[in-house]
Amino acid sequence: MKIKELPDFHGYFELFGGRFVPETLIPALDELESAYKEVKNAPSFWAEFDSLSHDYAGRPTPLYFAQRLTEHCGGAQIFLKREDLLHTGAHKINNALGQGLLAKRMEKRRIIAETGAGQHGVAAATICAKLGLECIVYMGEKDIHRQALNVFRMKLLGAEVHPVSSGSKTLKDAINEAIRDWVTNVSDTYYLLGSVVGPHPYPVMVRDFQSVIGKEAKEQILHKCGRLPDYIIACVGGGSNAIGIFHPFVNDKDVKFIGVEAAGRGIKTLQHAASLVAGKVGVLHGAKSYVLQDDAGQIRETHSIAPGLDYPGVGPEHSYYKAIGRATYVAVDDNAALEAFQLLCQTEGIIPALEPAHAISYAVKMASSLDKEQIIVVNLSGRGDKDVDIVVRALGMEL
Ligand SMILES: *Cc1c(COP(=O)(O)O)cnc(C)c1O
Repeated sequence: MKIKELPDFHGYFELFGGRFVPETLIPALDELESAYKEVKNAPSFWAEFDSLSHDYAGRPTPLYFAQRLTEHCGGAQIFLKREDLLHTGAHKINNALGQGLLAKRMEKRRIIAETGAGQHGVAAATICAKLGLECIVYMGEKDIHRQALNVFRMKLLGAEVHPVSSGSKTLKDAINEAIRDWVTNVSDTYYLLGSVVGPHPYPVMVRDFQSVIGKEAKEQILHKCGRLPDYIIACVGGGSNAIGIFHPFVNDKDVKFIGVEAAGRGIKTLQHAASLVAGKVGVLHGAKSYVLQDDAGQIRETHSIAPGLDYPGVGPEHSYYKAIGRATYVAVDDNAALEAFQLLCQTEGIIPALEPAHAISYAVKMASSLDKEQIIVVNLSGRGDKDVDIVVRALGMEL
């Protein structure tokens, strides 16, 4: 069965997606959509994207056979797509670069972005510096305190960081504030959203920029193994690194997709961020998708040891994949992620970010139950330098 080419004209992945925004934003979204449609078919745009991806961001990233990790598991072969080797340390630069180039074409010189832990803020600030654009990053006050180093990085890169003191003072409030700014300053401002979430056209546009991951991985695995993988495993926060590696394989029906969410302190404790595994369909940040909300419909506070997974929603295309059974979604808790983090350090000499450590954990468990002919590709979405402080504390140690 061929999967339908989505989203549809109205930005829906069947039941999910759409545009649930104030009336004043519709013209801005329309303008963005038509600008994106134009560049989507403009070879000169993609030539610039490819050239900067190569020379500035560090693409292509290797597809690496993790031999010692594979031997440790004693089953399926594990390959890692090394997005951790990119400039700024994660896949987020792919999207920031694509949207930065688009903003420039649209002649919008004022860029706003939201950030949780600061990874997207740093990627956006980096690209704005590179392209000579003004950059304002909205960040919850609580996150500003927790992530002082990334706040300083953004400032070094010339960005302004605007503290957000509403709600839980974290990522979801920062997104609300960025949307508010956009409504007020639509004419000269571009909103550079960090994942495959938000109103149409963000989910499809961010997916297209991140699909470079899966396109490369497909070529690389064919070159190395002469066939496609049996499984692709990726962590899911908003879902951009996962959709980026999944999407180019969507019609390869023998390639199974597994998205790994954060089970935090355990699904039963409600201190988790597993929107697809444990959420309900609702509306958050302008799109219909799986959301973590209480019985009164209020958005729940989330928890994960991995800052990038700590979000109560998920991109609509993942909700669609779940609904049609194209992907399976599972959740891995803080302790298992922490164990996988250390395992990858010691078997491969790679310090992963805590987000993909969730995917590694699931891959390790799965690999041992599969035979040696099977192939698993894990998207290693980022490196762990940013997480060393969290890990030190989690292990009950001191520097
Ligand atoms: C932000 C981040 C994530 C989560 O975001 P997605 O949109 O789900 O990819 C995952 N890994 C790393 C390293 C991140 O920085």
